Amino acid sequence: MGSDSGPGAPAVDAPPGVGRTVDAARRLLASGEWRPAESDADAAAGVRTRLTARLPDRAGTSVLAATDRDRRLQRILRTTLHHLDGGALSPPATALLAAVARAFRPWHPFPNPPRAAAAPRYPGSTSTPPTAAGEALLGPLADLFGTLAAPLPPGTVPLTPRAEPWAVVHEGRFRHYGRPSPSVWTADTFACPACGGRSGPWTVRCDWRAFTLGCACGTVTGDHGLAFSEVWLVLDGAD
Ligand SMILES: [Zn+2]
Repeated sequence: MGSDSGPGAPAVDAPPGVGRTVDAARRLLASGEWRPAESDADAAAGVRTRLTARLPDRAGTSVLAATDRDRRLQRILRTTLHHLDGGALSPPATALLAAVARAFRPWHPFPNPPRAAAAPRYPGSTSTPPTAAGEALLGPLADLFGTLAAPLPPGTVPLTPRAEPWAVVHEGRFRHYGRPSPSVWTADTFACPACGGRSGPWTVRCDWRAFTLGCACGTVTGDHGLAFSEVWLVLDGAD
C-alpha cells in the first residue's frame, strides 16, 4: 500500500491506524456525538467480555500460562471478527472493531492456527506473538468498550457520527473463505468480473458500510462477496 505512486496511479487516502481510531472513538463517546445504537452496544459487550476475561489459575505451570495468555488474545480477535463480519454495526463501530481486529491480527495463528491449508493467512505474522504488547491494549480497550456497551442516559436516543471514508491501492489477491465444518476451510480467489484478473493492483474504497474494488482494467465492483475482514486484514500499512 502506498507503493503504487507511478504515473496514473489513483489518488488514495490511507485508512486510519489503530491509535487514531481508538482515540477518535473515545472523543466521540465523551462528547456525546456518538451514542451507540443497540447493535453497536451488543457487539461492544461481546468484545469487552473477551477483553476482561480472567486467565485460568494454573499455579506453577508457566508454559500453560503463556498459552493461556495468547489464547485470551486470540479469542478477542475471533470475537471481534465475528461481530465485524456480521454486518450489523454502524460505520464508527465498524471502524473501531476493524482497528481492534488489526491490532490482534498477530494472534490469528496463536496458540492454535487453523489446520486446513485453505484457512486464512494474514500478512504481518511473526514466529512468536508479541504477547506483552497485546496485553497492554487490554485495559484501555476494556474501558472504551465498557463505555460503548453502557446503557444510554435516560431520555437520549442513539446518535451515530460519520466515519471517514478511505481508499488504498493493494497488490495481491483477495480470498473468500467458507467453513463447512469446524476444521475444514474452503477458499476462492476473487476475480474481476470484466477481465478475470486476480492479483490487482486493486483500488479499495471503503465508507465503513461497504467497500468497492477497482481493477486495473477500470472496472469497479461492490458485488464481490467478500466479508469485511477478508479485505481489511489482508491490507498492509493501515496500522
Ligand atoms: Zn479487471
